[in-house]
Amino acid sequence: MPPLSLMFKTVSTDCNLDCSYCYYRQSLEGSRVRRRIERPMLENLIPQYMAYVADVRAARFAWQGGEPTLAGLEFFRWLTDLQERHASPGTSIHNALQTNAVLIDAEWAEFLASHRFLVGVSVDGPEEIHDALRKDRGGHGSFRRMMAGLDALRRAGVDCNILCVVGPHNVGRPRELMRFFRREQIGYVQFIPAMDFQATEPNARPRYLVSPEEYGRFLAELFEEWYEQGKPRISIRIFDNFLQSYVGVPNDACVHGEYCDGGLIVEYNGDVYPCDFYIAPAWKLGNIFEESLASMAASPACRAFVGRKQPLPAACQICEYRQQCKGGCPRNRLSLEDGSQSPDYFCASYKQLFRYADERLGAMGDRIARRLRYEEKLELVTADRKAAPGRNAPCLCGSGRKHKACCGDPALANSYVFSQQ
Ligand code: SF4
Ligand code: SF4
Repeated sequence: MPPLSLMFKTVSTDCNLDCSYCYYRQSLEGSRVRRRIERPMLENLIPQYMAYVADVRAARFAWQGGEPTLAGLEFFRWLTDLQERHASPGTSIHNALQTNAVLIDAEWAEFLASHRFLVGVSVDGPEEIHDALRKDRGGHGSFRRMMAGLDALRRAGVDCNILCVVGPHNVGRPRELMRFFRREQIGYVQFIPAMDFQATEPNARPRYLVSPEEYGRFLAELFEEWYEQGKPRISIRIFDNFLQSYVGVPNDACVHGEYCDGGLIVEYNGDVYPCDFYIAPAWKLGNIFEESLASMAASPACRAFVGRKQPLPAACQICEYRQQCKGGCPRNRLSLEDGSQSPDYFCASYKQLFRYADERLGAMGDRIARRLRYEEKLELVTADRKAAPGRNAPCLCGSGRKHKACCGDPALANSYVFSQQ
């Protein structure tokens, strides 16, 4: 079976905040409905999923919402026990939780650390920026409560990354954002542009809160602040995704990958959809009580969705940056009057970044590719009980340079790694 990851709408659209740009405040049942994921549904699904991934020995779960911590710590204790009981021997279980961190305290943090959750925390920048749009229903900013949660996570040693939404409140301030994240010793950040659309209305014309030009300027300035003479200290997902294209390894984000293959989305009641942006009846693959997970994953509807990025719009097919960008997200294309499709709304932003940073990204990509080749060959050499090359021997990466002046240089040993996802 091919690898398959699952993302759960743990509490459907329920949330303890009311951020103005949220694309899942409205479910098919109404706005901000109070729902909790159904345990009988998980008792049905998790054994099926564990059987599905038994060959690949990696089970990947993402818990989102709404705000997934509203399901309660007791629920997550029950869940991890269920996962462990049904996993085949040798299966590694990866759980990721996306949270506003408002409810996270020491007890939560200890639990998340002990089960090795990767926790994504939504942070839009320093207090004044974060609180501009990330408010509760009383209109109060959430920064201080979020930071208390983030600190608890860091004290417990939880692996954290940051999700930062780029909107009118911070699109002009990328350097400030980067300085803030550095000051807070954040290692991994994902920036996403704010889009004012609902996942339940995929055919409605999307509205965007930043223009392609604004987002393009943001990316170019962000790159400048991030690059640090080719030795960045923070991993930024969109740059990592472009680097993956330069290196020639599979892209871990669907937006800049070849296909719409982001895993399956499971609503609290077992309804399954192919993408977080398409939670609408026309795209429903089935319900876990009525159909098996394996048959939904292999269904013609799911395969058709995975392939819906292709063919790329005409503009992408002749684009000089096609290999790096791979056409962006179909949700951001517009249907044109002649029946064709426009490229991704943020096309001009990507081009602006590539024009600005292509050479430097390419050079970094070459260096990473060499390093990966070196590590692979070094592993083969040492597995064969042969000695690693001497300082003056040709480097294993094939550069033609001496080992000591290439991958054997200790300064290169910690070369940039792609973000944890
Ligand atoms: S539509 Fe966009 S978000 Fe959904 S799977 Fe395709 S690229 Fe990813
Ligand atoms: S930069 Fe624009 S035209 Fe080029 S591949 Fe990306 S979306 Fe398509």
